[in-house]
Amino acid sequence: MKSSSDTLQSITKEIVQCQQCPLYKTATNAVPGEGNSHAQIVFIGEAPGFYEDQQGIPFVGRSGKLLDFCLKEIGLQRSDVWIGNVLKHRPPQNRDPLSQEISACKPFLDRQLKLIQPKFVVTLGRFAMEKFISGIYISRVHGQPRFITCESNKFFLFPMYHPAAALRNPHIKKDFYQDFKHLKYCLDNPPKPSSTKPTTSSDNNHQNQHNQNKQINLL
Ligand code: URA
Repeated sequence: MKSSSDTLQSITKEIVQCQQCPLYKTATNAVPGEGNSHAQIVFIGEAPGFYEDQQGIPFVGRSGKLLDFCLKEIGLQRSDVWIGNVLKHRPPQNRDPLSQEISACKPFLDRQLKLIQPKFVVTLGRFAMEKFISGIYISRVHGQPRFITCESNKFFLFPMYHPAAALRNPHIKKDFYQDFKHLKYCLDNPPKPSSTKPTTSSDNNHQNQHNQNKQINLL
């Protein structure tokens, strides 16, 4: 359902009552998303895990702690951003989302983005990235913003690895930290929407200079 009087609160109510896919049967709570309704940056994860399902709040487990840490390192708090997921209910045993579940949940996130109108959408992991772009590897495009239009929402898509992957693999963790630094650079120096070539961590001299100056000590 969608109406011109959409609000984040009305979408939350719909999500809490949603029975469009079977996940509501096994979940404890829906996790609609939370944060600043005027956020310039939105973070999108895959689906609630155990702790998120218990509390109805996104990214409160170990991945969430890493996300909070990285936000703080670039001078942000959770209350500055909005955080949500592709799926609003936890899949049993944290299994991968199914395509029917992703389709059933899709309108919720599209409507949330339409209301928030962020400048940057940071996708955490493959499933979140694939909501917006398909046919590419996250290992090739992480940390590279690109301007996109999705369901009439226009923003810079900024793909990142999922924090859970960063917690499992030290190489990915290093990239994850580096991408946060580049995100900070992009926030301070917004890329031009018309620019089609994504800027990368390695080819951006401004960013390298910026990192040296800022000395963000993430590692
Ligand atoms: N992983 C996700 O993708 N989302 C959460 O909310 C928590 C962990």
